[in-house]
Amino acid sequence: MVITEPNPILRQIAQQVTAFNNQELDDLIELLFSTMQEKNGAGLSAPQLGISKRVFVYGFDINPRYPDAPPVPKTVVINPEILYLSTETIDLEEGCLSVPNKRGIITRCKSVVFTSMDAHGNIYEKSVHDFEARIVQHEIDHLNGLLISDRANALHQSQIS
Ligand code: ZN
Repeated sequence: MVITEPNPILRQIAQQVTAFNNQELDDLIELLFSTMQEKNGAGLSAPQLGISKRVFVYGFDINPRYPDAPPVPKTVVINPEILYLSTETIDLEEGCLSVPNKRGIITRCKSVVFTSMDAHGNIYEKSVHDFEARIVQHEIDHLNGLLISDRANALHQSQIS
């Protein structure tokens, strides 16, 4: 189940993950992927499942909610830290599974470089662009208690979230 606004967890700064190589973390990652796929999400963060942890997953081959988006590799992100945001930005209509039936145009940086940890606690660095960079910025917002309503000038009603 994906929790929706209003829910205080969606507005909290999520907690750093401090324990790795354990079943609880593996189960959370699996639940994030299965729920995201079931709901056709482009990405999904732990706070959206009511779990205040700095974890999200993203990626898909084809996404019916974003039919023009190219395939994005399936990725697990834990305790991300942004190293670089491009000054170049892109405006695109964006939705959120936690903000049902609303969409809005959101300006996001075209490129992002960030560090993350994997489920074993190893740090990796990743450089992402375009739609993938948009997803990363959207999901990091969730870890910081921010929603699309904070980023868009206005949201409109939409058949798809
Ligand atoms: Zn969202």
